[in-house]
Amino acid sequence: MIHFNRPYMTGAETEYIRQAVAGGKISGNGEFTHRCQEFFERRYGFGKCLLTTSCTDALEMAAILSGVGPGDEVIVPSYTFVSSALAFVRQGATIVFADSRADQPNIDEQSLESLVTPRTKVIVPVHYAGCACDMDAVMAVAERHGLIVVEDAAQAVDSFYTGADGRRRALGSIGHLAAFSFHETKNVISGEGGMLVVNDQRFARRAEIIWEKGTNRAEFFRGEVNKYGWVDVGSSFLPTEVVSAFLWAQLEHLDEIQAERRRLWERYLGFFSGLDLAALGVSLPVVPAGATNNAHMFYLLFPDLARRSGFIAKMRERGVLAVFHYLPLHSSEFYRKYSKTHRPSVPERELPNCNRYADTLVRLPLYCGLAPDQDAVLAAAAESLAQ
Ligand SMILES: *Cc1c(COP(=O)(O)O)cnc(C)c1O
Repeated sequence: MIHFNRPYMTGAETEYIRQAVAGGKISGNGEFTHRCQEFFERRYGFGKCLLTTSCTDALEMAAILSGVGPGDEVIVPSYTFVSSALAFVRQGATIVFADSRADQPNIDEQSLESLVTPRTKVIVPVHYAGCACDMDAVMAVAERHGLIVVEDAAQAVDSFYTGADGRRRALGSIGHLAAFSFHETKNVISGEGGMLVVNDQRFARRAEIIWEKGTNRAEFFRGEVNKYGWVDVGSSFLPTEVVSAFLWAQLEHLDEIQAERRRLWERYLGFFSGLDLAALGVSLPVVPAGATNNAHMFYLLFPDLARRSGFIAKMRERGVLAVFHYLPLHSSEFYRKYSKTHRPSVPERELPNCNRYADTLVRLPLYCGLAPDQDAVLAAAAESLAQ
């Protein structure tokens, strides 16, 4: 069976974990954590970076920092992972779901203005498949209404956006806050892991306190204060050095990982571009002007649910695991209940593009080490499409 994902190891993970253990400091905020954080700050021009135990945790930190509470509204696409909304639900906020674009699953930036009310506090653009949302449009709406932008950049490591000003900026460096994931299904991994990026300096000091259980412990260890104590809310959001050591082994090889993933992605694109997909009503991913492809994911879009289900079944018969993706959050069991007590102040509307991606999108295997098996995936796909 060819799996959909296999976690890739660079080979240095166990050596760095050994070093972390030998160093005798295996709690968080140590040497490997600092190395990883500085790597991101330097390489991508991010503001303050704080490693977390997951992207979900980083989003929870962002939700606390944004100050949302009961009665406040947060605009989130419905076609995303649960955590993009859940982090704000935990603060008691009301979720206002946005539709996806017609040409790709990212948030429909044209719809944003009509979703903003006096209660809106935050917009969460999710860079689906590592492909940039229209950040000029998102930031313009946010600026007009004084909103905080939290980029869900879980899938978006090493991807970029060029807006109208011609500046090429890394995803995760544009919003006031951003969250990354190093879950084993992402491009660079630590098993479970994530990172909060604080681009708006207003939030920098408080972010560190929330990260360290509501204490100013980090300042104490830097010698900035002579004792530390309980100064705010927070939790234990920081990963152990064992996890950071693992992540460092990945970051050292980020360029190779990305080069290999991009080769696999380009091979998919080249192959499928050579088939008459239009005749089958199947379409390929679109990377809009200004966005880049970080080869997080390769997907096909089928004309309807039945044909997608048929394709997945035929691929499985041929030994290849191709998988669909999100179920719309707005029709989830949890949200149905939650929205009875947390009603958005904008009328509920249909989200036809979100529903369509939920029914028609299928992802193909993509991981470092797939190369020897990619021919088999392509052959299985060609046969499954023709059948
Ligand atoms: C993976 C993912 C998350 C959650 O990441 P964790 O590190 O598993 O918490 C959140 N949002 C999106 C868009 C994701 O793809």
